[in-house]
Amino acid sequence: ETATDDTPERPEMHVSFEFFPPKSDKMEATLWQAIEKLAPLEPRFVSVTYGAGGSTRERTHATVARIVRETNLTPAAHLTCVDATREEVDQVARDYLAAGVRHIVALRGDPIAGIGTSYRAHPGGYAYSSDLVAALKKIADFEISVSAYAERHPESPDWQTDIDMLKRKVDAGATRAITQFFFNNDLFEAYVERVRAAGIFIPIVPGVIPIHNFTQISKFAGMCGASMPQALVERFEGLEHDPETHKLVAAAVAAEQVDDLVSRGVTDFHFYTLNRADLVFAICHMLGIRPHMETVAA
Ligand code: FAD
Repeated sequence: ETATDDTPERPEMHVSFEFFPPKSDKMEATLWQAIEKLAPLEPRFVSVTYGAGGSTRERTHATVARIVRETNLTPAAHLTCVDATREEVDQVARDYLAAGVRHIVALRGDPIAGIGTSYRAHPGGYAYSSDLVAALKKIADFEISVSAYAERHPESPDWQTDIDMLKRKVDAGATRAITQFFFNNDLFEAYVERVRAAGIFIPIVPGVIPIHNFTQISKFAGMCGASMPQALVERFEGLEHDPETHKLVAAAVAAEQVDDLVSRGVTDFHFYTLNRADLVFAICHMLGIRPHMETVAA
């Protein structure tokens, strides 16, 4: 008799990776190294963000178009409503369509004056992300992913408003929600229960951010309303000048978080890669995801 006889088989895991459009040739090279390393893991899709205020409109397009041309990955382009008329946003979507993109991550976006200021829709633009989802569906039968917030969006006055917004996005045609990153899995689980209780049944994919740089990630967390458990803060204490140990701890922390989510029944993960492959590749390996050599990036 062996203990493994009772071990249930792990379900198949699926992952997606998020990148940001590079600002320089050097950053472009870094991004493509990451894509080449991660592509053989056969993610469901790879997404490319749209800079605050639409500032990366051309660079997002160029990055996504290069992914279409040079890889057999499925790209998803992020698109926001910020600082653009409805016609301008629609044109960006049509340009994606023409470039071979069939999946859009549709967002409202952050206020142009910066996170923490109040959001004002462009007078001729889409006021809500749900309006954007509906408009995209009129342009083409895009696959549409939207955002979700396990700890509530910082602007949201209460849970009802937050869940109602998700419901409106789903009613408009979104078929997947990807969460803002979080470090407390209990909050994610409670959120999914809340969403299901509201009659929303699309997949809620946890967004996971490996902590490449604790100082930077805690700053991001503060801006987007993700709480940092004290135990996590303590794990990185004193490692500011010890990159090697920092990386080992980051890998352990991320593996622990992902493993715990698997034990709670999660089978799909979205990784915020920050254009780096190392930690994400290691976590995928832990999830049992191995490279398929026939899937090459370039
Ligand atoms: P929504 O889901 O539309 O709204 C979030 C909450 O804000 C609502 O629940 C509601 O409480 C409140 N709210 C929204 N609109 C209104 C309104 N008009 N009046 C009153 N309350 C309102 N940002 C980028 O700039 N580029 C990206 O590429 C990008 N990618 C992202 C990917 C993911 C997976 C996630 C989770 C976020 C991403 N963001 C990106 C950040 C996002 O743009 C911000 O969080 C933004 O503040 C909200 O956009 P949303 O689509 O998530 O908002």
